[in-house]
Amino acid sequence: MAVRFGPAGHGGLRRCRLNGKRCILHSDLNNFYASVECLRRPEFWNKPLAVCGSFEDRHGVVLAKNMPAKQMGVKTGEVFWQAKQKCPELVSVPADFPAYIKVSRAVRAIYERFTDRIEPFGIDECWLDVTESRFLFGDAREIAECIRAAVKREIGVTVSVGVSWNKIFAKLASDLKKPDAVTVIDEQNYRNVVWRLPVSNLLYVGKATAKRLLQLGIGTIGDLARADEAMLTANLGKWGKVLHTYANGEDASEVLPGDRPHVVKSVGNSLTCYRDLTSPEEVHTLLLLLSESVSARLTEKGLGRAETVKISVTDNAFRVYGKQGKPRVPVSSAKGIADCAFALFTSLYSWRAPVRALGVSVCDFTVAEQLDLFGNDRQEEKSAKADAAVLRLREKYGSGIVQRAAVFQDARLKNIDIKGTHLIRPASPDAPDEE
Ligand SMILES: [Mg+2]
Repeated sequence: MAVRFGPAGHGGLRRCRLNGKRCILHSDLNNFYASVECLRRPEFWNKPLAVCGSFEDRHGVVLAKNMPAKQMGVKTGEVFWQAKQKCPELVSVPADFPAYIKVSRAVRAIYERFTDRIEPFGIDECWLDVTESRFLFGDAREIAECIRAAVKREIGVTVSVGVSWNKIFAKLASDLKKPDAVTVIDEQNYRNVVWRLPVSNLLYVGKATAKRLLQLGIGTIGDLARADEAMLTANLGKWGKVLHTYANGEDASEVLPGDRPHVVKSVGNSLTCYRDLTSPEEVHTLLLLLSESVSARLTEKGLGRAETVKISVTDNAFRVYGKQGKPRVPVSSAKGIADCAFALFTSLYSWRAPVRALGVSVCDFTVAEQLDLFGNDRQEEKSAKADAAVLRLREKYGSGIVQRAAVFQDARLKNIDIKGTHLIRPASPDAPDEE
């Protein structure tokens, strides 16, 4: 059944000119967590509201805010009491991830009316390849408008949709106009629209890369597009060439449907703790919890073992440190990952300040058997088997049924179900570490 959605109300828009190229949409739910909260508590639509991490002691970090809060200067990532200073009426509600996942699925069902080529990027963003859908539903802009209107009408939250011929520009377009908007970047306008923006607007260009580029005299995406590729490669390696491609709209990466197995580059997880950590023992406990969630994900996805472990550490002055290393043998067990993560932490962190957040991720997956002369491998296999048994118990009886002894040092850590509440994003292709 092909339903023709009328382009009511935007008949005057010019058609987007993708000239036979792919039609990629990037749809981003606006202020997602806060919008879902306002949906169930309509009295908050016009009052400033912040969704906070559910660690009451420090009133949580602001994970999302609604429009009124945004207008008062409330920012994602800041601590609630700081936000409250700027905006005294600010109300905090704890994050309810199961509710957000439910709404996210309902929105996805709308996307599925238009295409089956949908790649989720976190809980609130998706790319859609609608190249083939045009023949049924109109051009890419019309499809984007239909999606925008349907999400608003049927779910009650809003999306910003970016339209372009590649994933990078589509993502960038969805950031340009918010909320409840459609933005097209096509071959006619991309030099005017994209090239004047700072390089940091490009997906995967973090602070470290932006700083490096600025040292090379590259401040805007246009500077990057016009820069000499050999110079970029000389300074940024392989990544320099990739970025040059992005800036010129030549990203050819496909929209990879999320329900089809695709190459996972890395699996990781991070957590801001409800209080600052001040001792190696506490850090060890949290690394163990994070490693458990990473290990469980590896098992679920059948990714085999990882040859590289990475950690990130954020101190309470928001300085971020990172390090990666290779365990003696490839690891998949929680203990194997945590041991390596803790060794990295010990060599990296000098305790200039207490620790506020930690992240653990693994990459370089292998299924090949390794020759190991020192029995490390047997130890790793044992740990992995124990993990698998624990995972089965938890699946059956809930995540609280088996806990590591270390976790009992702090009763509240017991109740964190990291895997249930934190989503794992696909890693950026070959992106260098942001430190
Ligand atoms: Mg969003």
